Amino acid sequence: MIRNDVRKLIEELTKLPGISLKIAHKVAYSILNDASLKEVIKNIADTAEKIQVCPDCGFFRSKDDGCDNCHEKTDEICVVATYSDMSAIERSGCFKGSYHILGGLIAPLENMLPEDLLVDQLKRRVELNQGVEVLLALPFSIEGDATVIYIQDMLQGLNLKLTRIARGLPSGAALDVLDRRTVLEALQGRSYIN
Ligand SMILES: [Zn+2]
Repeated sequence: MIRNDVRKLIEELTKLPGISLKIAHKVAYSILNDASLKEVIKNIADTAEKIQVCPDCGFFRSKDDGCDNCHEKTDEICVVATYSDMSAIERSGCFKGSYHILGGLIAPLENMLPEDLLVDQLKRRVELNQGVEVLLALPFSIEGDATVIYIQDMLQGLNLKLTRIARGLPSGAALDVLDRRTVLEALQGRSYIN
């Protein structure tokens, strides 16, 4: 029954982040009335199909051509907790090196343990890029500090410069809500650890 198909379409739309039931109704109506939007949806699915999360750096890579972000030599790796932290730095245009997305921060109470993060992979990247600067763009929180200490420990004895973004970020503010100037100051004010 056609009514069921429409309901199904709306249900599928509400599975997307940020799409409420009300918006889903609106979008469904638009899709059903505009053939070009059906093409857009097909293109999104086809393009997403070609992309996967890179198991070595946590960024996106092409399924066919490998990872632009981590399979090339680099002299600077910026380590972030999440994709949204990375995109905040990327949008600011202040950093030109490559990224390493850990996939979270150490938080035992939330079941995030060191082995859940891409730290071994970071170690391998440092070994392949002798003398690299590893810039830790991690929050100044209990979880952020615990993660910094763990990484420091894991990278001990390797040939690298380990730095961390400047203190002075508003307490609790995630990088993704900060403006370009704040991101720039945080990156420029980086300091050596060890
Ligand atoms: Zn990669």
